[in-house]
Amino acid sequence: MTALTADKAAAWMADFAASIAENAELLTDLDRQIGDADHGSNMNRGMKAVCALGSEFPDAPALLKKVGMTLVNSVGGASGPLYGTFFLRLAKELPSSGDATPEVWGKALRAGLQGILDRGKAKVGDKTMVDALTPAVDAYDEAVTGGAEFGQALQAAAAACAEGRDSTVDLVAHKGRASYLGERSKGVQDPGATSVTLLLESAARTLA
Ligand code: ADP
Ligand code: MG
Repeated sequence: MTALTADKAAAWMADFAASIAENAELLTDLDRQIGDADHGSNMNRGMKAVCALGSEFPDAPALLKKVGMTLVNSVGGASGPLYGTFFLRLAKELPSSGDATPEVWGKALRAGLQGILDRGKAKVGDKTMVDALTPAVDAYDEAVTGGAEFGQALQAAAAACAEGRDSTVDLVAHKGRASYLGERSKGVQDPGATSVTLLLESAARTLA
């Protein structure tokens, strides 16, 4: 069992917010090359709003549900509803009791990914955050099936996410604004795949 308290979820969100703030310029610069130069500012605005939510949550799923709604309402752009749906679906799978097994976390992460797929209709290879998050969730499940502890499984997920992020450089975009560029979208790392890797790296630092 892994203790899952509202405080722990809040620590994850605080760490992710700090990481987004640190990398906002990079995210916006990537989006300048294949989009409209706002991914860093979008995510930074959203995570600042999340940090302003305060600490009065009864449990982790309640907090993460509010995170999802806050991101939908404050981020704008394609990424707001996608990140928002990820957190809403994740929260739905997590127990309010205070404990979650690594298997339950795996189900929750998979549900979050499925939310992004349902909403954005992107497939692996379309050069989006899906190219990073899909191998991350697969690696997580594989680690848990192989007997890894929660923390090790999160590390494996973060590493696979980074590999997936790197794989977006050579891809041609088929979803989102970058797809307007066609072949010219090749050669640039996808901004959303970059930010979602920060999310998984934050998870590995804070949740286990
Ligand atoms: P916008 O494109 O509206 O300006 P952002 O710049 O904040 O929004 O986010 C861009 C990122 O959103 C992309 O780098 C990509 O990873 C992700 N994205 C865009 N469309 C989709 C989609 N249909 N499915 C999954 N991810 C997507
Ligand atoms: Mg953009």
